[in-house]
Amino acid sequence: MKRFLRIIGFVIGLGGFSVAHGAAVQCAADHCGAIKDQVDATCHGTGGGLVYVPTPQDPKVWCWCKCSCVAGDTLVRVTDKAFKRMQDFKAGDTVLALQFDGTWKSAPVVSSDGMGDKTTPFPYAIYLTLSNNISIVVAPDHVFWMPDSTLKRADRLAPSDSLVLSQGAKPIAISQIASGVYYGPMWNIVATSEQDVSSPFGHLIDTSGVVSGDWALQRKETQALQTGPQVGTAEYRKMHISSLSKQKSLPKVVVLNKAKNIRFIPHTQVAIPKDAIHLLPEGEDQAQPNELYPLDYSVPYEMAEYLARQYKTFYPDVEYQIDWLNDAVNAVAFIRNGKRHVVLYGGLIRHHRLQVEGAGLVIAHELGHHYAGPPRYPNNIWASCEGQADYWGAKIAQRKVWWGEYSIDQTTKGAAQLLDLFSKGLLTPQVGAKPMGICSHPPAQCRYDTYMAGLRLQPKPSCAGDPALMKK
Ligand SMILES: [Zn+2]
Repeated sequence: MKRFLRIIGFVIGLGGFSVAHGAAVQCAADHCGAIKDQVDATCHGTGGGLVYVPTPQDPKVWCWCKCSCVAGDTLVRVTDKAFKRMQDFKAGDTVLALQFDGTWKSAPVVSSDGMGDKTTPFPYAIYLTLSNNISIVVAPDHVFWMPDSTLKRADRLAPSDSLVLSQGAKPIAISQIASGVYYGPMWNIVATSEQDVSSPFGHLIDTSGVVSGDWALQRKETQALQTGPQVGTAEYRKMHISSLSKQKSLPKVVVLNKAKNIRFIPHTQVAIPKDAIHLLPEGEDQAQPNELYPLDYSVPYEMAEYLARQYKTFYPDVEYQIDWLNDAVNAVAFIRNGKRHVVLYGGLIRHHRLQVEGAGLVIAHELGHHYAGPPRYPNNIWASCEGQADYWGAKIAQRKVWWGEYSIDQTTKGAAQLLDLFSKGLLTPQVGAKPMGICSHPPAQCRYDTYMAGLRLQPKPSCAGDPALMKK
């Protein structure tokens, strides 16, 4: 029987990002620590993963604290013979910690914290199976102790890597590695000392038989360990193509605890049919790598899930999906088996220039392909043309989803973000060019003008399609 372990690590290392989703900067650890009770109470109420709070320096500037509130499962060795679930640890307990001389000694647990439940998605977790058939789900920035006495982040492990067994001289091979969405509690503990992390020893613990860093070690080291391609990226898949092809594939849903409905859903590329309609023409949707947030930055995912819930309230017949691993700056609409779909690609929502308003306007545009009426694609008769979808999205969907004056704000900001996004190296500028037919993608400025015309109840600009055809 498989045994499972869940360990926390928080997404950190975002201090360098200046562009933000609303209030994107993570608060200083001591600030979150000082208001921990308030944060925890809010997390319990919302079931969310992040809480936005004002910074202590300036109440107009906001930052976010990670939730650390919900009980979780975990297996950590406390004596030669016994493991204990991480959620059961309390400050003052003891845990076995690896020492410099290679022995395991009992050490004090100085803190124990966690977050999440079966309803809160942890968008980018790492799933490992070892050759002894033990499976482990960890946060991407969780650190493992490697056979060469270095630390490695979970999302940088290669499929050919081995991990260190706490008992036994030989390292153990990884037989499966995958990224995916985890639904369940994530937890962490600190052994020995919160402050003194001058050496990994005292902070290395036995997690389901393999040696891992505790939360203090992870917090200290994980930023410096962000080297090499991340599990799930195209670069990673290319680099490890032969070992990954030998891996046994995972089921669609890995059930970790049936009674508690704790599960891991491996990331898979969403199957996009050939006749799907794209937000941007294919080939004009490639970002520079440094324009995208990394896969372990969860704010855009939370944002997209939130938006999908909002738009679904008003357009319930559509299936909304996130293709997190897909780096293309795009979104699509299609119909499959009679069901309407809208898919947001990871490269779109992870793009630095796009924030919540722009992402919402993209969904409105994609809904426009389904509901905006004529003119339609001649060879794809269910789908409204690009300019028509832009116009209807701003004019109708945005007004329906965002009440009254909120829709003015959402659409104005969204249009500005999309102009900024489209006009900087994506949608090819076609200054002065004539429309290439009623359904082609208009140039960036025209798309902006079309959104604003929809908002202001002005006629659709002629650059957004042939008005004569609309009268049909
Ligand atoms: Zn479109």
